[in-house]
Amino acid sequence: MAEATSLRKKHEDQGYILQKEPELTKAIVAALRQRKGHTAFQWVKGHQGHPLNELADELAGKAAKKRRGNCVELTIPANLNVTGARLTSMTQKLAYKAVRQMKSRETHPRPRTVKITTSESTSTNKHWSSLRKKDLITKETRQWMWTTLHDAYWIGNRWLEASMPADLQERAVCKHCNATEDMTHILFACDEPGREIVWKLLTEHWQTTGGPPIIPTWGSVLGAACVPFPNDKGARRVTMERRWTILATESAHLIWKLRCERVIGRENEPFNENEVRNRWYATLERRLDLERRYAALTEGRQRAKRLKTVDAIWTPLIQYNEDLPPNWVEKCGVLVGICKTPCRRSGQG
Ligand SMILES: [Zn+2]
Repeated sequence: MAEATSLRKKHEDQGYILQKEPELTKAIVAALRQRKGHTAFQWVKGHQGHPLNELADELAGKAAKKRRGNCVELTIPANLNVTGARLTSMTQKLAYKAVRQMKSRETHPRPRTVKITTSESTSTNKHWSSLRKKDLITKETRQWMWTTLHDAYWIGNRWLEASMPADLQERAVCKHCNATEDMTHILFACDEPGREIVWKLLTEHWQTTGGPPIIPTWGSVLGAACVPFPNDKGARRVTMERRWTILATESAHLIWKLRCERVIGRENEPFNENEVRNRWYATLERRLDLERRYAALTEGRQRAKRLKTVDAIWTPLIQYNEDLPPNWVEKCGVLVGICKTPCRRSGQG
């Protein structure tokens, strides 16, 4: 009841943004205001044998057991409806919350996420939170994925919007294939050779680590951190899942970067196979270097765990890995490279 009485002014000033049941509280406050007579409340201690309190408890208990809730009238007369928050009560936290509330009311699931989530049967929320797995997806790649999933890059149909001058509309089309150049085209359909070379490198190396067959798709790449790789008994193979997330997201992001360099800086001149291969190895080697340094700099109880994780994820991908010293991850003197001639070897699950 305090929500409707002593805290009323505070909630009204804040536009009920931080309140858990705003619709209900607002309706109770409006009902109180509509009463002609003075309404007073008296606080009584609960569960102490007060007859009305016992009765209220009993009614609440019965209502909680109902299979369907009662339909409660929540309409508020327009003259009693208080909307918005007082600017003097507005804080950054409050404003942020209000925007989030408005946004979640407005926004429909985004087409891209729906596509991903349906193809890999995972929930939208799980997918968005998977993007926040900081140790698996680097900040730069995460930003690219986020922008891609929001369909916010200026590619494909964006150039065909009515307001676009005619001379810019030709940018909608891929110069190689004469098809609309959206992200699906760039990542999964373009005839430009670099794209296929990257996916081939990914597949080859993934298989050498004992990974099960998987085709790069919207779901398996943009939702990489949600793809489960269970063993025969149905248990998750976490190291394998992490390895896939790193390889798939880094590879996809590289395809995008190569595409941008080609279109913007090379007048659409494709990269040759060697250039693409070198870029892929360099991307992963840089990533491995980052992981090793991060693990080595970790302090406290997390350190040993981190070092072990890096070791488990990367060892099967490293050239001459049979010669690696046991503490290679943290020893910066130990130079390692990604295996250039992948052949089947044992990967830890
Ligand atoms: Zn193309």
